[in-house]
Amino acid sequence: MLRCRHAKVVSDSSIDVNASTDLPSALTRWFAINKRAMPWRNTRDPYSIWLSEVMLQQTQVATVIAYYERFIKRFPTVHALAAGDLDEVLKLWAGLGYYSRARCLHRGAQVIVTDFGGRMPETLEQIRRIPSIGPYTAGAVLSIAHGKPEALVDGNVARVLSRIKLIGGDWRQSATKAKLWELARALHLEALEKKIDPGDLNQALMELGATVCTPRGPLCGQCPAQKQCGAFREDKQSEFPETTKKTAVTTLRLLSWIVSDSKGRVLLAQRESGGLFGGLWEVPTATRAPGKEKRGTPAGSFRHLLSHRELKIQASAVDKKLWTESIEPEFNCWSGKYVNWRWVLPREAIDGAVALASIQKKILQK
Ligand code: SF4
Repeated sequence: MLRCRHAKVVSDSSIDVNASTDLPSALTRWFAINKRAMPWRNTRDPYSIWLSEVMLQQTQVATVIAYYERFIKRFPTVHALAAGDLDEVLKLWAGLGYYSRARCLHRGAQVIVTDFGGRMPETLEQIRRIPSIGPYTAGAVLSIAHGKPEALVDGNVARVLSRIKLIGGDWRQSATKAKLWELARALHLEALEKKIDPGDLNQALMELGATVCTPRGPLCGQCPAQKQCGAFREDKQSEFPETTKKTAVTTLRLLSWIVSDSKGRVLLAQRESGGLFGGLWEVPTATRAPGKEKRGTPAGSFRHLLSHRELKIQASAVDKKLWTESIEPEFNCWSGKYVNWRWVLPREAIDGAVALASIQKKILQK
């Protein structure tokens, strides 16, 4: 049985976890004192909040901060992003992964400019018409930027609420998800009566899940929700939230050709937009057939883990003549297709001349 690390210990002198109070007040008072500094927390600009929320999906705060600052410097407004070139957007996103987020963000900015006069909509119905804005992001933008009492549920919030209210079932499954959304909305109704800022309430729930009510070893002794928490009361922190088995990871074996010319440049191909790594550049890569790599010089093995796929890549170096005469005629991209080709110096490619996924930078560095 996993037990919380500091049960019934008040470790933050600013918060009395045993104080008798309602949940929204306890959470937001705790948040006011304990929130971590983040650049997007200094603003109520809906575009900045939207950008940060999209970047934070699937990515840790510590990684996002530098990307966010670079991005907002280059595209400070929704108008700037809408007018920007997708290639440049992808370059700024390179290394952050899940590139469909960048493409949707770019497309979303264009929709905001063309359909909403450049202003982020302030109603749930309208904001959901923007690409990249699902229920979670809508709740975040509407509550944090516009102060609307809109709920949200992400992994952190699901963990906190399922422990406090002892909600069983995997939160990704629709019945459980519906219960959690209902609970989150009920908290907002309670908060509304007490004039609690909806954005603070949502951020408090997310922050609590990220820093205190963590998946393993929750710090219940520091938790402002300890008094209301069913899991703490019954010592069942490890039983909530319930999880079902993850989808099995499939392995793809690939062969990347590092083709170089007499000027020291390498051949890069751009993937079609949409799909995995859509719009990004890479060294020509095919599904690996036994023995094919022997036509070149071994240039290393690489492994790249995606959410449900593992890429095992063997790299092989060849010169332009061998590539053109023997390999290219029978070459097939490993998934989707390439739409552009160009010769680039490896250093320039790594330094950002083209949008490269992090695995491609590793291959070129080698
Ligand atoms: Fe512990 Fe419950 Fe607080 Fe999570 S919500 S840290 S389980 S007291």
